[in-house]
Amino acid sequence: MKHNESLSIVHCPLSIVILGGGESGVGSAILAKKQGFNVLLSDSGTLKNEYRQALQDNGIKFEEGGHTEEIVLQASEIIKSPGIPNTAKIVAAAVAKGISVVSEIEFAARYTNAQMICITGSNGKTTTTSLIYKIMKDAGMNVGLGGNIGKSFAWQVASENFDYYVLELSSFQLDNMYDFRANVAILLNITPDHLDRYDHKLENYARSKFRIAQNMTQDDAFIYCAEDPVTMQYLREFDIKAQKIPFALNPSSIINQKTDYACIHHQILTSMYNNETFTVLVEELSLKGKHNQYNSMAATLAGQVHHIKKDSIRESLRTFANIEHRLEHVLKVRGVLFINDSKATNINSAWYALESMEAPTVWIAGGTDKGNDYRELADLVRQKVKAIVCLGVDNAKIIAAFSKIVPTIVETCSAKDAVQAAYHLAAKGDTVLLSPACASFDLFKNYEDRGQQFKEAVKNL
Ligand code: ADP
Repeated sequence: MKHNESLSIVHCPLSIVILGGGESGVGSAILAKKQGFNVLLSDSGTLKNEYRQALQDNGIKFEEGGHTEEIVLQASEIIKSPGIPNTAKIVAAAVAKGISVVSEIEFAARYTNAQMICITGSNGKTTTTSLIYKIMKDAGMNVGLGGNIGKSFAWQVASENFDYYVLELSSFQLDNMYDFRANVAILLNITPDHLDRYDHKLENYARSKFRIAQNMTQDDAFIYCAEDPVTMQYLREFDIKAQKIPFALNPSSIINQKTDYACIHHQILTSMYNNETFTVLVEELSLKGKHNQYNSMAATLAGQVHHIKKDSIRESLRTFANIEHRLEHVLKVRGVLFINDSKATNINSAWYALESMEAPTVWIAGGTDKGNDYRELADLVRQKVKAIVCLGVDNAKIIAAFSKIVPTIVETCSAKDAVQAAYHLAAKGDTVLLSPACASFDLFKNYEDRGQQFKEAVKNL
């Protein structure tokens, strides 16, 4: 184990230990130091140079390459990075000793009076969070963006002075949040994902998502999808004090909601809040696909809750630039459109990608399977997909699921080969869609790496 200088935090009552030295951990360390705590950051791996430098610049003690248990367990509170499971030995030992273990968001929120607009769900968090941020920023509000995106929330609390934060929250962050209160919470959807961290029980994962509403009051707004069956099932179980505002594609899903809702009516996104009706044509939305209509409705409601002018919201919805790796249009090569949806790492997100395809599609799919049931995609694949290019080490499940439906299925094991194979199979006017429905770790570092290599290969055609 590699240690840095003297690690002892003995005899200091105000000791914070941070487990994990990524963006959120380093941000937490900087904030904790600023608040006068005696801080130690401990990481079982190697820190990135920029983070090591930031810790040194701020005079923060740290260790890399392992956790020194006898020191970590002297902490009065531990801030845990979301990537470390609660079952990790060091965390279990801390909990057994009665040490409070919290997430970065829980910790940092203690040191700001800003209003919190929080977004969670299995899919669509980054898109919706970014869209709400844009809506608020375009409206001239003093707003920060954080959570799973960009600069950590804690770091910003230490260095900025925002009146509002728009925060993307994963279930892992929510798991270690206790007193945090969201002023606006958005729950987009709950579909199976990350179940390995939840004893393979959807119920546990759903409960984690609902923690977003746990301290809300009647002055707050809880925005949710009335067409998401798992959300609807659990909504009844929780005593949510906030005003509940549903959104749905089909108006009949919210038929009993007389006011404060959003839906799509005759291709018009219609949202009603506080007796104000907002409308925008679906074709004007910059984000395409049904899933993005959900995201746009949720974002619109968040804008209305903040009394943002309708014209301003409409303009933000029209001009939002889609984010990388999410149905990102890469290039048209001799009439074949290439779309990078590398972030589609589960069945549900790939479903929405396929659903939004308007031309015959060559579908690039595969990778590390998280227990997928491909039958859910069968109808869409039958309608839209002319060929499948598998991009994974083990493609047996995909081949078994679709060999009777799709005439051509080929296997590849690099982004370059996949792009070339897809290009050969596509005709002018077709679309090549990378929407893998799987994680990327068998062949790539992460989904960003997979998307980058895909784009690079397309540019080299
Ligand atoms: P997250 O941050 O929750 O992973 P992203 O916005 O990064 O969500 O999108 C992840 C993937 O899910 C992308 O492939 C995207 O096209 C798809 N997606 C986005 N919004 C939704 C939604 N509301 N429902 C289902 N899939 C979605």
